[in-house]
Amino acid sequence: MHVSAGQTDRATRLQLPASVNRRRVVWSYAITVAVYHAIAVLALVPWFFSWTGVALAIGGVYVFGGLGINLCYHRLLTHRGLVVPKWLEYAFAILGVCSMQDTPARWVAVHRRHHEHSDRRDDPHSPLAGFLWGHVGWMLAENADLVRLRIYDRYAKDILRDPFYRRLERTLLYPVIVVSSWAVFFLAGLGAGLLAGNGAAAAAQFGASLLIWGVFVRIVLVWHITWSVNSLAHVWGYQNYDTGEQSRNNWFVAILTSGEGWHNNHHADARSARHGHRWWEIDLIYAFVRGLEAVGLAKDVCRPDRRTIARLPKRLGSTP
Ligand SMILES: [Zn+2]
Ligand SMILES: [Zn+2]
Repeated sequence: MHVSAGQTDRATRLQLPASVNRRRVVWSYAITVAVYHAIAVLALVPWFFSWTGVALAIGGVYVFGGLGINLCYHRLLTHRGLVVPKWLEYAFAILGVCSMQDTPARWVAVHRRHHEHSDRRDDPHSPLAGFLWGHVGWMLAENADLVRLRIYDRYAKDILRDPFYRRLERTLLYPVIVVSSWAVFFLAGLGAGLLAGNGAAAAAQFGASLLIWGVFVRIVLVWHITWSVNSLAHVWGYQNYDTGEQSRNNWFVAILTSGEGWHNNHHADARSARHGHRWWEIDLIYAFVRGLEAVGLAKDVCRPDRRTIARLPKRLGSTP
């Protein structure tokens, strides 16, 4: 692979950010990640199984991950690639909160820092410093650069001007939303079971299956899918553009994320709400944005800059 001036060579292992102290574990994240994985494994116990639960886990990846994280946290809040009415933005943001990827301000701040320092030492989660580091490890070790107030001041002032996002930082609203979402899944199952006349024990079992699959399995799936954008899509895949870092277009990640895997395109034109730049780079999130636009619920939708598209190589694999 040709490495141009300024481009990070992936053959050289990147050092962790100087601000990281690997000996200091961020216990709140480490315990959350461990507990959610442990509970998700309960899904393998037959008592917790139901096909409705499986359907909710798969559908939930699209609803909570697709709309909450990919559309709202990423394209809307981080990059301001579109504008939707506030009530709809907050509804999407609540789906993001239910995905347990921290608050919108925190997510936005970390991701903006990633774009500013992609695959360089100050990138919070470059897989060039280790694949597992880029996937999940970066969250579990203390990084002084990611201390909330400092990072918010630099990267998320616009987000925190909004009273709703400020409340998510300063009050118990965030955990209240999370616990309420657990209750909704369990009570929906319990209620449906009782209405069907299955008896209290069977109804509670059905509610538990919706909780385990619809919440915990879904959250773990969405975590790994989001994390794979940071890890896989900075290691494997092709580049349409010489962006000076290792972002890749990875079809596997693109399928899992409904379009976020066209990550080299995204790094080339971060503001654009459309991540697929070739006709076959399917981007379901952008299709959804176009749907919102068609019914008048999205405006100021950013599309790839003409100068970016002009740089698109004619043939895949030719030098960008
Ligand atoms: Zn990236
Ligand atoms: Zn981005």
